[in-house]
Amino acid sequence: MPFGRLNSMARRPWRLSAKLLIASSVATVIGFTAICASVLLDMRRGEEQLARQTLENLASSIDAEISRNVELYDLSLRAVASNMVMPEIRDVSKPIRHLILFDHAATARHFGAIQVFDVEGKLIIDASTLDPVQENRSDEEYFEIHRDRPDAGLFISRPMLHHGAYAIVLSRRITGTDGSFLGVVAGSIRFSYFHDLFGRLSLGPGDIISVLRHDATVIMRTPFDLDVIGKNIGQSAGVRRALSEPSGSYSSPSILDGVPRLFVWRDGTKPLVVLVGKPWSSILELWRKEATRIGAIMLALILFVLAVAMFLAREIGRRAQAEEKLEEMATTDALTGLRNRRKFDAVIDAEWRRAARQKMPLALLMIDADRFKSYNDTFGHQAGDEILVGIAICISDSVRRSGDCAARYGGEEFAVLLPGLSPLQAVGVAETIRLKVLQWSDDPTVTTVSIGVASLTPATAMDWSALVAAADKALYAAKAGGRNQSVLASMPALSLVA
Ligand code: GH3
Ligand code: MG
Ligand code: MG
Repeated sequence: MPFGRLNSMARRPWRLSAKLLIASSVATVIGFTAICASVLLDMRRGEEQLARQTLENLASSIDAEISRNVELYDLSLRAVASNMVMPEIRDVSKPIRHLILFDHAATARHFGAIQVFDVEGKLIIDASTLDPVQENRSDEEYFEIHRDRPDAGLFISRPMLHHGAYAIVLSRRITGTDGSFLGVVAGSIRFSYFHDLFGRLSLGPGDIISVLRHDATVIMRTPFDLDVIGKNIGQSAGVRRALSEPSGSYSSPSILDGVPRLFVWRDGTKPLVVLVGKPWSSILELWRKEATRIGAIMLALILFVLAVAMFLAREIGRRAQAEEKLEEMATTDALTGLRNRRKFDAVIDAEWRRAARQKMPLALLMIDADRFKSYNDTFGHQAGDEILVGIAICISDSVRRSGDCAARYGGEEFAVLLPGLSPLQAVGVAETIRLKVLQWSDDPTVTTVSIGVASLTPATAMDWSALVAAADKALYAAKAGGRNQSVLASMPALSLVA
């Protein structure tokens, strides 16, 4: 097998294992991150769900409380409106009329006294006194609404100053049996009612409770802000949804302070809508802390895993390089830098089988320094070594194809394996080497080489030792023929070509 291919084959596995290590670490990191992200998202959804439920329960209980009181108060107003049309009511004395018209529900704390106004808006009956003061309410919105619209039902006014205190006025039309407008009955719920109601709740910082009329007017809000009371917040899409659907939730920055909140509302078909909001920052406060903690731990773990993977990958590379170097050293001849005998035996074995498979010729040159013993004896062993290095350089200069293999076969003998070369081509290479040595040598009469050349296409049941034997024989013939020549082994006879 050619050397280049052997080297790249040797290098590939460690590169692959280093890449596999890094890829598996990255996959592990991605997997862990995905699991972690999914758990964190689930936690976040859980927090949101809990907040939504809490807000829904809060909105429900506030809504139930307000609706019950408005309903009770409305029952009183209805009773007055229907009793007022009875003809007998005009004939009884004022105290009896009071007893007939007003029940005790309307005298509850926070509720204003019920008043009855005639067709012109003049106060004619006041639940708090038998002698009402002179007063005309014909220019009030609630009076005009009932006068002009028989179907107005229970009308809830905008927040207003009513008898010296902020209140909302609840009113109903008094309609005669013939459908004619006979006046208005009105009562009020003071803000103190809402203050009292909201004061009993424990709210978190930033939490908001708003009570809205169906036209998006703020009736009441906690935290209390007089500037907001009476304001119309219908420009918010969320508020518009709250006023058109029985219940639900939306998330948006509050139009009053810009803080992003989760809003939940309860309304039903009732005249007042309860809107409860909680800031996202407080909903997700605990989750954020937990997510930061888990995220930091995860990040540290990821960095650790990646650092270990990189370190191990580098270590694998280093070890593999060291192994490659050792392998190279184990297969290289120390003096000449050519392949050593061990390597040559492995290569010739592989190339022989390859040539057999491909039915291609395999050529071998056996090169031997001429009269080297006497050179050593004359010039010394060290000078002899230098000559061997020179011969090796001449050989590797002439053998440049990637598949070729030049080796020190032993002592002052060299072998060159040339896959695919025909006998004549191999003789050409041998001659190039021989002439190069001759040309390089200081004293051409002293330093020469003899070369035995053989080229065979392996047949079945043939061993590569046949090729070595043939080349050896040819080398022997070259020595016998006077040295400094190349001889081609022709099977079975040997022929002399140079
Ligand atoms: P021939 O032309 O027949 O090959 O003659 P030769 O003297 O080269 O033959 P022989 O095989 O008898 O001698 C080989 C000599 O090569 C013996 C030894 O001194 C020398 N030799 C073998 N290995 C080395 C080596 O590594 N360094 C040196 N300097 N000399 C070596
Ligand atoms: Mg020899
Ligand atoms: Mg020799």
